[in-house]
Amino acid sequence: MSSTEKIKGLKEDQCVVDVLLKEVQSHPCKDCGKCVFGYEGITQLEMILKDITEKKGRSGDKALMEDLCEMMKTQSLCEDGEDIADAVKEALTTYGEIFDEHISKKGCRAGVCKKFMTYHILASKCVGCGECMDVCEDDAILGKNKFVHVIVMDECSLCGKCMEACDEDAIVMAGAQKPKCPTKPIPCKR
Ligand code: SF4
Ligand code: SF4
Repeated sequence: MSSTEKIKGLKEDQCVVDVLLKEVQSHPCKDCGKCVFGYEGITQLEMILKDITEKKGRSGDKALMEDLCEMMKTQSLCEDGEDIADAVKEALTTYGEIFDEHISKKGCRAGVCKKFMTYHILASKCVGCGECMDVCEDDAILGKNKFVHVIVMDECSLCGKCMEACDEDAIVMAGAQKPKCPTKPIPCKR
């Protein structure tokens, strides 16, 4: 299946930026190097797309990718360069709004790009054991014995260690839809 076909067949639980980044990273142009526009173009595309998935997108990124694709389409020595340029152009045309959401740091609506996710502790499940707090190297968790613990997202580095440590499955990751959780530790109901 060509890169463009993959973009056209995107499912709801897939993120177009993430899919495109993976296409670019596994594309033949990355290892070829026979033509400057194919190699340089794909290297630049990878850097831009990676930044967008990591919440480091810039306002000019879409225009820059359009320009790169135009050059790759007309100057690459073989159809591989054209193929990936077509896929990026297709993605920008059909899913421009999703790129905008990532670039303006609003979020990843498919809940795929990890840097856009947040961690939460469900009051209905937390028993206040403190296991999560013990493994958090960023001191991002508030709580005490038998109190529902709370994650302070400003301090959280998204390492995921608390989620692994919690035997109660009380810690969840969320994308655009966040669960309702206490903002301060409160006594556990369990
Ligand atoms: S979130 Fe899990 S690990 Fe942390 S205090 Fe609650 S039950 Fe314990
Ligand atoms: S994800 Fe990592 S940094 Fe964030 S609260 Fe959990 S253990 Fe701490």
